[in-house]
Amino acid sequence: MPEAVASVADRLTAVVHRANAQPGVAGLKNLIFAVVLYRFAVRAWRQVLIKGPVRAVVEFYKASLQSLIVLTRKRIPAANNLVKTEIAKQVLSIEKKMVKIQPGEKVYRALPVQGLSDPAVRKELQRYQNMGDVDWRAGKISGAIYHGGDAVSALITDAFSRFTVTNPLHPEIFPGIRKMEAEVVSMVLRMYNAPDTGCGSVTSGGTESLLMAVKAYRDMARDQRDVTEPEMVVPVTIHAAFDKAESYFGVKLIHIPMDPTTGKVDLTKVARAINRNTIMLAGSAPNFPHGIVDDIPALARLAQKHGIGMHVDCCLGGFLVPFLEKAGFALPHAVDFRVEGVTSISVDTHKYGFAPKGSSVVMYVRKEIRDYQYFVTTEWPGGIYASPSIAGSRPGALIAGCWAAMVHFGESGYVASTREIMQTAMKIKAGVKKIAGIELIGDPLISVVSFRALAPINTYAVADLLSRKDWHLNVLQNPPAIHIACTMLTSNGNAADELLRDLENAVSEIRKDPEAGKGAVAAIYGTAASVPDRTIIADVTRGFLDALTKI
Ligand SMILES: *Cc1c(COP(=O)(O)O)cnc(C)c1O
Repeated sequence: MPEAVASVADRLTAVVHRANAQPGVAGLKNLIFAVVLYRFAVRAWRQVLIKGPVRAVVEFYKASLQSLIVLTRKRIPAANNLVKTEIAKQVLSIEKKMVKIQPGEKVYRALPVQGLSDPAVRKELQRYQNMGDVDWRAGKISGAIYHGGDAVSALITDAFSRFTVTNPLHPEIFPGIRKMEAEVVSMVLRMYNAPDTGCGSVTSGGTESLLMAVKAYRDMARDQRDVTEPEMVVPVTIHAAFDKAESYFGVKLIHIPMDPTTGKVDLTKVARAINRNTIMLAGSAPNFPHGIVDDIPALARLAQKHGIGMHVDCCLGGFLVPFLEKAGFALPHAVDFRVEGVTSISVDTHKYGFAPKGSSVVMYVRKEIRDYQYFVTTEWPGGIYASPSIAGSRPGALIAGCWAAMVHFGESGYVASTREIMQTAMKIKAGVKKIAGIELIGDPLISVVSFRALAPINTYAVADLLSRKDWHLNVLQNPPAIHIACTMLTSNGNAADELLRDLENAVSEIRKDPEAGKGAVAAIYGTAASVPDRTIIADVTRGFLDALTKI
């Protein structure tokens, strides 16, 4: 066999040599080289246009260094083994923290041979419920639990229990669920001042809402404009669901830097990045990292000029933004369908809408766009099949829970919760401004307040000291920063005052002793930032995902 392979290889080589010797081939080779060079130059020039010459060069250098390091490492077995051992060590330490099984603790590795009685299951549920030692009611958590009140939870649970067996895939069996879903969409459309042509879908969460919008614009551009290499131009601060959409749907993501002072996406660079493959622009209101609202009207004008989609990611602020004015706060401009050029908006009912986790709404300005979100197949032996979004079967109970929360709070309830949450956020914002050594990122106008430490104080060291005080805040990177997304729980009690005090103490502690804060956050993010080989970070992160299903 090897000889046969060798002879085939020889023959192929000979053919290639002969082909190369043909007159004209040299010309062709030059032409191909010219095309490759041209494509490289175009791409490089675009990077310079979008990122500016300095950043483009730095990023090119970083990317080349990364490839070089990975290549070199993989060629030197000793180096590769060293890296692999280190990754395994890190993953093991993650597992140790996450997978804590007490000696003698019952673990269900396989189905119990004999099923448990109802009381026994309830007892077990109680045991699992008591796991963990984070007191989320104390309000020291950024986001995660947006309301948490017992009465609201009881109401949602009641809604669940009435609709436990339902599935919106079968509207003829569960007409009540169909109606509730339609009403959830309608209520959110009204909140966002949609025109009569407006429409939407309930999805499983913000990520799915964003994925659906990208898919709709991709298929629409392919159908109507023959775009086969679609691109989307979005702020670098937009939610990672857009990275996911790139990975799932093959729509190239063009990240545009933010203005370092305002935290908003740099509009000039957005304009430069648009080309005939661009299917959509997007902006956040507000974004997850810094709670900053992009200049939606300006982005929408650009999108309109080019005849492309404009998505507003209102996932986070979905149930704050529409009530800001009535709560006594304001944005400098509208971010909803009143803004001409806005063609879709995503809103998470399961955040400040206080619905149970697993629901969000994606809205479109006209039905034509939503059509491209749908999936329909007419030839399946299982029947003519259609579903509006990614899932097939869906939990009707979640729709009932969402509907119950929305009609329970109503406009008055959401205005009141918006007022409380905003007062807390603005108190934190004002307090952070006064702490020497700490600065805000941009001018946050909604519920997320993001800040960083000024040199020589290390932001991640501050994060470590705060986590030692039982704070569960979000740690950010590029640039290093910390944020808190205020919720009803932050507004209860005096969490805001506590945070400001702990933050001030952290800063003065580090001033006295620069080593004071060095802990897990500084170790993880500080080290991660200094590792040029990003595949190592990705591998450790995959280990984290693996740990989720370890017992
Ligand atoms: C939460 C969030 C999303 C979606 O996240 P899910 O976890 O899928 O609900 C999208 N955009 C922003 C700005 C968000 O904060």
